[in-house]
Amino acid sequence: MEFSKLQELVYEAGIVGAGGAGFPTHKKFSKDVKQIVVNAAECEPLMMTDHHILAHHFKAIVETLFVLKESLGAEEVLIGIKGKNIDLLDKNVLKEIEGTEVKVVEIPDVYPAGDELVLIYETTGKIVPEGALPITVGVMVINAETVYNIHNKLVRDENITNKYVLVGGDVQNDIIVRAPIGMRIIDFLTECGYKDLEGKAIIDGGPMMGKLVDPKTDVITKTTKGILVFPETHTVIQRKRAPKSITLKRAAAACCGCHMCTDMCPRYLLGYNIHIDKTLRAASHSEVQDARAFTETTMCSGCGVCTVVACQQMLDPQKISLAVKAELSKQGFRRKDNIAPQKVREEREGRLVPSSVLIDKLGIRRFVKQMVTRKEIEFKPKTVYIPFSQHIGKPATAIVSVGDIVKKGEPIARTDLSTLGTTIHSSIDGKVKEITDRFVVIER
Ligand code: SF4
Ligand code: SF4
Repeated sequence: MEFSKLQELVYEAGIVGAGGAGFPTHKKFSKDVKQIVVNAAECEPLMMTDHHILAHHFKAIVETLFVLKESLGAEEVLIGIKGKNIDLLDKNVLKEIEGTEVKVVEIPDVYPAGDELVLIYETTGKIVPEGALPITVGVMVINAETVYNIHNKLVRDENITNKYVLVGGDVQNDIIVRAPIGMRIIDFLTECGYKDLEGKAIIDGGPMMGKLVDPKTDVITKTTKGILVFPETHTVIQRKRAPKSITLKRAAAACCGCHMCTDMCPRYLLGYNIHIDKTLRAASHSEVQDARAFTETTMCSGCGVCTVVACQQMLDPQKISLAVKAELSKQGFRRKDNIAPQKVREEREGRLVPSSVLIDKLGIRRFVKQMVTRKEIEFKPKTVYIPFSQHIGKPATAIVSVGDIVKKGEPIARTDLSTLGTTIHSSIDGKVKEITDRFVVIER
C-alpha cells in the first residue's frame, strides 16, 4: 500500500497509540523508519489486554505488520514480548514467519520493559538521544493493539469507536470487553456487573502509571487499557491521592539523600542524565543551584520505580518529577541538546526490577489472576461523552452541531491531517445533544 494512502486511512480511522500514550499513529509514519518495534511487553502489573489481543489476533497483527513494513520501507519488524508470553502466540503463525523480516524478540520479565526507550534498547540495542524521538535512530514503536486497529481499518473499514478494556483489581474475576468510547465509567462498570463500588477507588490504567478517575464524570477513551477497582484504603490509592504539598513536606523532613531513587531509575540506568534525588531535594528545600535538577525531568517516563521500589523512606519522587515535567511542558520548555548516551550504565543488569518483585512491593498479589475471561457485552449507553482530546497534540475541533443526527463510526471532530492530532468518531447512533469545551455529548 502507498505510504500516503496508509497515512490517510490511519488518520481517518482516528488511530492513536492504544498503549496509553495516545500519540497519533499516522504522525509516527516516516520513510526514515528502518525498524518497526512492536510493544507487546504489557509490563504494568494486572494488565492483560495486549496479551488477550495477541493470543486471539496474532495472524491479523502479523499480516498488518508486513503491510506496514512495505509501506514504510522498513527493513525489519521486531515484536518485543516477554518469554513467558511467547506461548500465547499462534504456533502456526510463528512457523510461517520463521526466516522472514518479522521477528519475535524475547525481552526480560522486568518493569518497565514496555517503556519506549527501554524497549528500543532491549530489542535493537539502540539508545535514543535525550529529548529526541525514536525516529532519530530509525525506529518506530507501535503497540500491539494499535496494529490490530490498523488491521480493522484496512480489512473492515472500522474507525475507532470501541476500546478493549480489562476490568480487574479487587474483583472476583477479571474480564476483557470492548467498550464504547465516551461511556461513563460508572455506567460501564454497572453494565459489566460491578455494581457495589462502596469504599472503592477506580484507576484508569495500571497501578504504577494509571490515573485515579471519578467514575461519575470520567469516560472510556481511546487509551483506556484497563479499569482497576481498588479498596480506597490500599497504599496504591493513598499514594495517588496524597497532595503534592504533603509529598514535598515529607521529603524535606525525611529524605536521607541516599539517591537510591536515582540509582534504580530505569532511564538513569540506560545512561541518561536524570537525577531524581536532586530534583526532589531542589523542590522540597527550594534550593536550586543548578536548573538541570528540574530540566532533567523531561527524561522521566513516570514509571514510578523510584517511589515504589527504591525509596525506603516511603517518599514519592515520581509525583514530584511528573509535576515538574508537566509544568515545564505547560511553559513550552523544549530540550535543545540531544545527547545520546554511548552505553548503558554498567550496574543496569543487576538493578532491573523483576515483575514479581514489583507485585509484592505494590502489595497487590491477591489481585493477580491467572486468566482473564473475554466477555461479549452489547453495551447500550444512553449517552456518550466523547472527548476532543484523547491523544497527544492538538485537541480535535467539532465538525457537527447540536441537533445533528450521527451514526456510529461517523466523524464528529478532527484536526488537520498535517497537525499532531486525529479524527474523533461517534461511538453510537444518536443525536448531538450538547457540545462543551471537552466533549461532544451524543444521546441514543
Ligand atoms: S518515575 Fe522515577 S524511576 Fe521512573 S523514570 Fe521518572 S525518575 Fe526515573
Ligand atoms: S530514595 Fe528516597 S530517601 Fe533516598 S534520596 Fe531518593 S527520595 Fe531521598
